[in-house]
Amino acid sequence: MTRSLRVAVVGSGPSGIYAADALTDQTAIPVTVDVIDMLPVPYGLVRYGVAPDHLSIRSVRNTLQKVLDRDSVRFLGNVEVGRDVSVAELHHFYDAVIFTYGAASDRRLGIPGEDLEGSIAATDLVNWYCGHPNAKTDLIESAIATPTAVAVIGVGNVAVDVTRVLAKTPAELEYTDMPQHVLDALAATHITDVHLLGRRGPAQASFTTKELRELGELEATEVIVNPIDVELDPVSQATVDSDRVMARNVEVVREWSTRGPTGKPQRLHVRFFARPVEILGTDHVEAIVIERTTIDENGGAVGTGVLETIPVQLVVRSVGYRGLPLEGLPFDTERHVVPNADGRVVSDGVAVSGEYVAGWIKRGPSGIIGTNKKDASATVAALLADAPTLSPAAEPDPEAISALLASRGVGAITYQGWQAIDAAEIALGASRGRDRTTIHDRDELIRVGSGS
Ligand SMILES: Cc1cc2nc3c(=O)[nH]c(=O)nc-3n(C[C@H](O)[C@H](O)[C@H](O)COP(=O)(O)OP(=O)(O)OC[C@H]3O[C@@H](n4cnc5c(N)ncnc54)[C@H](O)[C@@H]3O)c2cc1C
Repeated sequence: MTRSLRVAVVGSGPSGIYAADALTDQTAIPVTVDVIDMLPVPYGLVRYGVAPDHLSIRSVRNTLQKVLDRDSVRFLGNVEVGRDVSVAELHHFYDAVIFTYGAASDRRLGIPGEDLEGSIAATDLVNWYCGHPNAKTDLIESAIATPTAVAVIGVGNVAVDVTRVLAKTPAELEYTDMPQHVLDALAATHITDVHLLGRRGPAQASFTTKELRELGELEATEVIVNPIDVELDPVSQATVDSDRVMARNVEVVREWSTRGPTGKPQRLHVRFFARPVEILGTDHVEAIVIERTTIDENGGAVGTGVLETIPVQLVVRSVGYRGLPLEGLPFDTERHVVPNADGRVVSDGVAVSGEYVAGWIKRGPSGIIGTNKKDASATVAALLADAPTLSPAAEPDPEAISALLASRGVGAITYQGWQAIDAAEIALGASRGRDRTTIHDRDELIRVGSGS
């Protein structure tokens, strides 16, 4: 090929940007990249997942931005693949496509009462507090307005984030980039008790210790743990003996179990061996029924038949994210990922020429931001190795896709548009003494991003 290789990356989360980085940070094969995102703004879950009170983690966007700054990389925001342009059409404009569209849906508990009003997915709560343009604002704001007691189900970092955000005082959230209506709604809640429920024990939980520890340092919330929950059975003891993270987590929870009352106005009840079996209520959540579990020889949870009812008016399930199919791409309906071999998309056991995948939609929703760098690099290595055999795009002119989108009335937001949004958010934040305030309204994002 005499021209540069033209690659589309679908999704501008960490894996998409790391893929663009790996493609353009090598010189053996000249590549130009279009990073396409359905949202008018880049960075995926770094913007719409990572907790807004974790400023240093959110600042990863500054590193990611350096990739979008490159001349060989172009951002096309506000373009949804599968709606505004099809997968087949992408092949017309690009020599290869890397799909990095993440895992945006949530997993369900599968228990009675899950669809009652007041039972919500952490995904929806997170979208709302991060200012996602598609947030279910009315649903979340009515769900959190009146409850005094809340159950958060799950023992990963997302459950910890959600618990922390619900338990923090307005002063503890004031410095974040949360939209003002979010800060106002959180300040107006009446929550006094949060129950963080895990099916298994502290030795099986997937928290990271730093995040876990923060729960014990909240200004207005005391943390309560029943000492019986930190008595380790032999299987859990063996885990703690061989895994330093688990050992540290257990140490943190054990220290909490020794704390006496502090007189703080709110309580966080961290409960292990508690499997949710039913959410009770007539038309709204009134309580959750949990079953005490024990750990079997494989570290799994086994019910003991001992039930307990906890009065709560809000249940937030945080039991994992889930990838969704994209029309025109194969999909593994059991693992909820795009089937692939080393990042090459596979259909009926055969690699599809010119199609690649990276990040959460490649390997499932696990791993931290950094995990996606290695993962995206491995996919890019496969693509570059295949480069001599790729079928060239029929229409490689970079302006051709823009013309198609314009003919469909799709106003793509460019990198310059994103920079305008970025500046507007910084100015909005400064007007309130903060570093930044997220603009949550899609029309406003598009208005600012398109300079209209
Ligand atoms: C609530 C939460 C908190 C987290 N906190 C941390 C943390 O503190 N530290 C940490 O290291 N990791 C954290 N993670 C994990 C981290 O965010 C992920 O590892 C990472 O974002 C996955 O990257 P990705 O690019 O695969 O997916 P995503 O970040 O989800 O990016 C996917 C992108 O694809 C776009 N997209 C989707 N469909 C389409 C389509 N059809 N057309 C065009 N674009 C599309 C989306 O808009 C999005 O921008 C957190 C995750 C969650 C869910």
